[in-house]
Amino acid sequence: MFEKSEKLLARAQKTMPGGVNSPVRAFTSVGGTPPFIESADGAYITDVDGNRYIDFVLSWGPAIVGHAHPEVVAACQKAVARGSSFGAPTELEIELAEEIADRAPGADVVRLVCSGTEACMTAIRVARGATGRDKIIKFEGCYHGHSDSFLIAAGSGATTLGVPNSPGVTRGTAKDTLLAQFNDIASVQRLVDDNKGDIAAVILEPICGNTGCLPPQGSFLEKLRAICDDNGIVLIFDEVMTGFRVGRGGAAQRYGVTPDLYTFGKVVGGGFPLAAYAGSDELMRHVAPDGPVYQAGTLSGNPVAVTAGLETLRLLTADVYEDLENTGQRLHAGIQEIIADGDYPLSTHRVGSMFSLFFTPMPPTDHDDVKSCDIDRFNKFFHAMLRRGVYLAPSQFEAGFLSTAHDDEIIDKVLETTAEALREVF
Ligand SMILES: *Cc1c(COP(=O)(O)O)cnc(C)c1O
Repeated sequence: MFEKSEKLLARAQKTMPGGVNSPVRAFTSVGGTPPFIESADGAYITDVDGNRYIDFVLSWGPAIVGHAHPEVVAACQKAVARGSSFGAPTELEIELAEEIADRAPGADVVRLVCSGTEACMTAIRVARGATGRDKIIKFEGCYHGHSDSFLIAAGSGATTLGVPNSPGVTRGTAKDTLLAQFNDIASVQRLVDDNKGDIAAVILEPICGNTGCLPPQGSFLEKLRAICDDNGIVLIFDEVMTGFRVGRGGAAQRYGVTPDLYTFGKVVGGGFPLAAYAGSDELMRHVAPDGPVYQAGTLSGNPVAVTAGLETLRLLTADVYEDLENTGQRLHAGIQEIIADGDYPLSTHRVGSMFSLFFTPMPPTDHDDVKSCDIDRFNKFFHAMLRRGVYLAPSQFEAGFLSTAHDDEIIDKVLETTAEALREVF
């Protein structure tokens, strides 16, 4: 089934770490050979061995209108023929900034960059520059890209000073990153009380998608907003995954809590390397050349990437979000029925077109809960689905995504496959 992929992996490993350009693609946690991809269209992705899968990874989120959407492709072809990069301003960039500002509450001023990592790295620089403070609070299990300040693990104890979790991150950097527990407001309050006047920013994924899909519980986001207001702390919503996916204005609009700064990526680039950070006029005017906080990029606002982002967002009308919600609901209800029928020790979370099936009976609320999942069984389930033509993210700690190309027929097929795969692994 994977003969050609196996050969390509062996060849790739000679010239690239793990044979890949981003670690999770190597299937390290689930084992086996990652299919090397030849093409994708709509809800499907096809590998070099000719296997065709229903895709729930969608390039880790961007392909929300389906792969190779004809309107996006046509617009990008026209754009690239006009020249692929100018290193000078274009009208297109204004249009994208205006579209973002129109959608996300409080995203009034926007800077385009090339990756979510870059957006998050810069958002904390802006918060530090604006507040004159050094420390940030992040949450265990939230991912904000691979810049040094975010590659921090918890030390011993639940809530604590960070320690580097990658060689190459200095202790000096790690000491300025404090770790709290997602959905645990007391863990944030403690850190704020213990570091009075030193905290520049609280950054989080408002729906934590990098531990599987964990929605915020109760009034967690409102309470964070209040703590930040009371202490002059910049609240940053990392909506690289949730932005323009869980609704027209992302998670902030969905939950009615407005951050001071946002980071966007994935959907906003329509499958190209494009991301953004945005926020209030007051904060964003600290950014060069209006202010002293430096950030720049040769390919920032690349016209082909901006075109892909704009076309994608224009396809995402209110009706389309409603359709995505309904598709998500159909999938979610179907899986819950399968769990109930088989009395499986599984649970689910879903927000809009993001979802996770957790191999633990209690729906998790934080990273520790997800760590208690039956990972071995998840891995077997993952391969049982892959063999049957359903491509899920190769880790229990990742969310699944739906696109507008996932129609009812596809969802029904996936539900059938899920029931079969679960019978195999239990
Ligand atoms: C993917 C992701 C990032 C990093 O974006 P890259 O474009 O991979 O650098 C940051 N934050 C969140 C929430 C993400 O999901």
